[in-house]
Amino acid sequence: MSEQQRLRIAIQKSGRLSKDSQLMFKNCGMKVNLREQRLIAHCENMPIDILRVRDDDIPGLIMDGVVDVGIVGENVLEEETLLRQSQQENTEFKMLTRLDFGGCRLSLAVPEDFEFKGPRSLANLRIATTYPGLLKRYMDTQGIDYTNIMLTGSVEVAPRAGLADAICDLVSTGATLEANGLKEVEVIYRSKATLIQSSNPLSASNQALLDKLLLRIQGIIQAKESKYIMLHAPKAKLEEVIELMPGSERPTLLPLAGRDDLVAVHMVSTENLFWETMEALKALGASSILVMPIEKMME
Ligand code: ATP
Ligand code: MG
Repeated sequence: MSEQQRLRIAIQKSGRLSKDSQLMFKNCGMKVNLREQRLIAHCENMPIDILRVRDDDIPGLIMDGVVDVGIVGENVLEEETLLRQSQQENTEFKMLTRLDFGGCRLSLAVPEDFEFKGPRSLANLRIATTYPGLLKRYMDTQGIDYTNIMLTGSVEVAPRAGLADAICDLVSTGATLEANGLKEVEVIYRSKATLIQSSNPLSASNQALLDKLLLRIQGIIQAKESKYIMLHAPKAKLEEVIELMPGSERPTLLPLAGRDDLVAVHMVSTENLFWETMEALKALGASSILVMPIEKMME
């Protein structure tokens, strides 16, 4: 098969989204040799090429139709969209699914001793960021003027270095801010990794392949969020037991050898079973309660 006919998927080469993206494809059954330090990795068992690039390049590659599918943080996607809109460039893409990794927030942060009384405290100050579009949109909605200081890295050291009065940066735990004597004062955007597709039509075979992958990806996400629950319940209390079990599915009931008074209840739950619910089930006479992870799911 020629290079052009293979489905092209762009992922971050090295960074916070790389490992999870690779693991997701592995769990989808794709065999990819990523050990080599090459831009393009070929999938061995499906007609797919993986392009490994900087995350900032992924939205543009998708919007320009250079690659078919990409995994990128919504923050980077939204920033690129705002930039392209301001330059009257094409911003089209299809959102396939939000993924369950890469969670972070874009926040305003100020030095610990800064007296912050709301975004207005930042009026006419210098704010350093890698996301000028998202910051501007937020400050515009608040009607606040400020000076943008564009930095592509080390944003968190800008106040200490005297380059800015505040920053607007990505946060997940807050440890980096704390280590730099900063405090988070306002969340302006919440982000997760997302799977996007170019709006250029795919060949029928590539579209079928992508549809299959998407179902597998959704199956993996759903499986991670679900649990398989098993327990033994007294027949007399069955309806009450079922009522307590989370999730919408009706359970499977199985007889227990030598016990006419008990029945085994099995069910897939879309939620976790909390200790409180387990205790309530036990109080109803349920026993041998097991909550197990599910690896894959297909409905
Ligand atoms: P590249 O070299 O590919 O440009 P980068 O340094 O811009 O990498 P990373 O720091 O690897 O990017 O972050 C990639 C994405 O991971 C972010 O755009 C964001 O969507 C997500 N992310 C999740 N948690 C965090 C975090 N704590 N800090 C920064 N990004 C995070
Ligand atoms: Mg980047």
